[in-house]
Amino acid sequence: MTRVVVGAGVAGLYQLYRLRELGLRVQAFEAGSGVGGTWYWNRYPGARFDSESWTYGYSFSKELLEEWDWDEHFAAQPQTERYLNHVADKFDLRRDIQFNSRISAAHYQEETRSWELVLEDGSRHSTRFLVTAIGILSAATMPNIPGIDSFAGLSCHTHRWPKEGVDFACKRVGIIGTGATAVQTIQELAKTVGHLTVFQRTPNWCAPLHNAQIAKQEMDDIRTRYEEIFALCRTSPGCYIHAPDPRKTLETSPRTGRHSGRIFTVLPVSASGWGNSATR
Ligand SMILES: Cc1cc2nc3c(=O)[nH]c(=O)nc-3n(C[C@H](O)[C@H](O)[C@H](O)COP(=O)(O)OP(=O)(O)OC[C@H]3O[C@@H](n4cnc5c(N)ncnc54)[C@H](O)[C@@H]3O)c2cc1C
Repeated sequence: MTRVVVGAGVAGLYQLYRLRELGLRVQAFEAGSGVGGTWYWNRYPGARFDSESWTYGYSFSKELLEEWDWDEHFAAQPQTERYLNHVADKFDLRRDIQFNSRISAAHYQEETRSWELVLEDGSRHSTRFLVTAIGILSAATMPNIPGIDSFAGLSCHTHRWPKEGVDFACKRVGIIGTGATAVQTIQELAKTVGHLTVFQRTPNWCAPLHNAQIAKQEMDDIRTRYEEIFALCRTSPGCYIHAPDPRKTLETSPRTGRHSGRIFTVLPVSASGWGNSATR
């Protein structure tokens, strides 16, 4: 019986690849029209990694690591979407993905010990093994503001940004929220809008990204360290090269708070690595 994977983001693509490697038949269903998940949907201005690009790629294929160059330390959404499309093509994953197909219900059938899946278009599939790779951040939270339906202007949600982009030049624009996504969007929109108003409920703490291009030589150097990088990532809770700082806010000195630009301790990589053991 065919195994079913729901979602074709980073996790779904990998599940599809792994299950196939095990010699199993797999069918994936994806609500979007392309692969990438987070990096397919979130195409708002300024969308980019906030973790280092070279820690984010798949580690299962040496060949993939050899052939892929990250352009920036914190890649922008278009490059990450390109990367995941490259992975889908390289491992011929697309042939087992049914796009524009949202699973609306999954019922477990005790008698047959299988899952009965219902798609939004009413079609049905059954499977003994169901892997949901639907993401923890893949459902947009729409603003619940009284009267919002009567807003006559153009409105966009960052998660469902129009693929063709939006021209804000000279327009009066309002942004609701100042979380990580808004911080990225505000910086980009501010370059072209006529006037920008940011509606902030709660002030957020943010630090400069310190992004930079990755020159070829630097990328070649990173490539020689992949094993070390991934080993390091496996030691941190979020699979980053950073370890959370265990101190409470008030245990840090005011100077650290004002000038460090980092909320994490960078774990040491090697004597010639990128970070100090404490960069705060
Ligand atoms: C704006 C943004 C920036 C981020 N930046 C970083 C970062 O810098 N570093 C980092 O480590 N993480 C980051 N993340 C977290 C990111 O979500 C994960 O890194 C990763 O992409 C999650 O992959 P996933 O495959 O688990 O889920 P997703 O990428 O969310 O993919 C889930 C897929 O499942 C599909 N799906 C969901 N429900 C159904 C259904 N019922 N039927 C069919 N298909 C369905 C969705 O359409 C989607 O394509 C970011 C997240 C966001 C939103």
